[in-house]
Amino acid sequence: MSAGAPDEVNSFVREAMEILEIGPDLQDVVLNADKKLSVQLRVPMDSGEVEIFMAHRVQHNNSRGPFKGGFKYHPEASLDDVESLANLNTWKTAVMDVPFGGAKGGVMVDPAALSARELEKLTRKLVQGMKEVLGPWTDIPAPDIGTDERVMAWVFDEFSKHKGFSPAVVTGKPLHLHGSHGRDTATGRGVLYAAREFLKASLYTNVRDTSFVIQGFGKVGGWAARFLHEAGGRIIAVADSRGATYNEKGLDIPRLTGHMARGGTLTEYEGGGPILSGPNFLTLPCDVLIPAALGGVINAKMAERLQCKAIIEAANAPTTMDGDKVLRERGIPVLPDIYANGGGVVVSFFEWVQNLQNFQWDDEEVSRKLDRHMTDAYHQINTLATDHKVPLRVAAYVLAVKRVADAERHRGFD
Ligand code: GLU
Repeated sequence: MSAGAPDEVNSFVREAMEILEIGPDLQDVVLNADKKLSVQLRVPMDSGEVEIFMAHRVQHNNSRGPFKGGFKYHPEASLDDVESLANLNTWKTAVMDVPFGGAKGGVMVDPAALSARELEKLTRKLVQGMKEVLGPWTDIPAPDIGTDERVMAWVFDEFSKHKGFSPAVVTGKPLHLHGSHGRDTATGRGVLYAAREFLKASLYTNVRDTSFVIQGFGKVGGWAARFLHEAGGRIIAVADSRGATYNEKGLDIPRLTGHMARGGTLTEYEGGGPILSGPNFLTLPCDVLIPAALGGVINAKMAERLQCKAIIEAANAPTTMDGDKVLRERGIPVLPDIYANGGGVVVSFFEWVQNLQNFQWDDEEVSRKLDRHMTDAYHQINTLATDHKVPLRVAAYVLAVKRVADAERHRGFD
């Protein structure tokens, strides 16, 4: 499932603009993407045939700094999907207060169907096709669904071949190749810090006394489960695209991770019972539901059926506009994606800064600085939510839209 049409995200932006009384001139600037680039990649496959893949990069807004956002490799990474996600990233970097704008890229491909060699060729073709719009001070890609540090290393290498040594052109690189400590775990770790503040300040409880259901057990959900478990949280169910597992007493996450690393599936895990995967998984009774996989899973119908007390959006755009309406009516608090999964882009910012300094921080420094960013942003959002009597999502957009609108105004329009 995708993040929906750009208009879905813009409905939240419009709501924030009304509260901020932003006039129509600025509205158009902020609602529309700056630049969209589509490139046809012709990739020689191992079979000797040449296959064509469509690639998109949407640069939404750069008033606060260089465009920033991941490259997603997924068969449904359409231009619309990429545009919505680029739009989200403008608000994510603003709400997290890192000096970047918002972008997103996508290649319409199933990376699992390609050999490592084909994947490398595809990535190099991608950089060749897009190198003129990327750069350490222009647009800085990062990993996303279907891409990883290996892909980012190829992006760095290919770009450097054409433009000279440029580690800061991409984040999420391997640690020994100008990467940062804590980048791979950053989004999951950020979810822990976000959950801690949300539970304390808004729900008057803590991670230890909370049960979690997590959809997604990959780069985001897997780490979020690990950190929440370490902090004493009870993870009662997790699902991925192939299955799910459930244990009312709480899953032993390190054991489950070991089982998965040995090539097991969630359904086969003996420390949990079988449970329905697929959409019904989301309706399990729990304190906090964490969608940490693809977008659009909580639509109006699903929102009616949920049996959780609160939602933390670790995925991008897991809730549709209509789903969000229902959750508001039902009084289910939602910690929104642009904040809850913002830990990734915060550590990307740290990686970029380290690259510019040609210096590496230690793990402890990265975690401490990430905690500070997540905690500060939460309290800024929460204060706005209280002042304006609006849900956290609207408050997060108010904070983000104000920052972008101020930057636009200060820079002027000449
Ligand atoms: N996958 C993240 C996104 O595009 C990466 C953000 C970043 O680190 O630049 O939302």
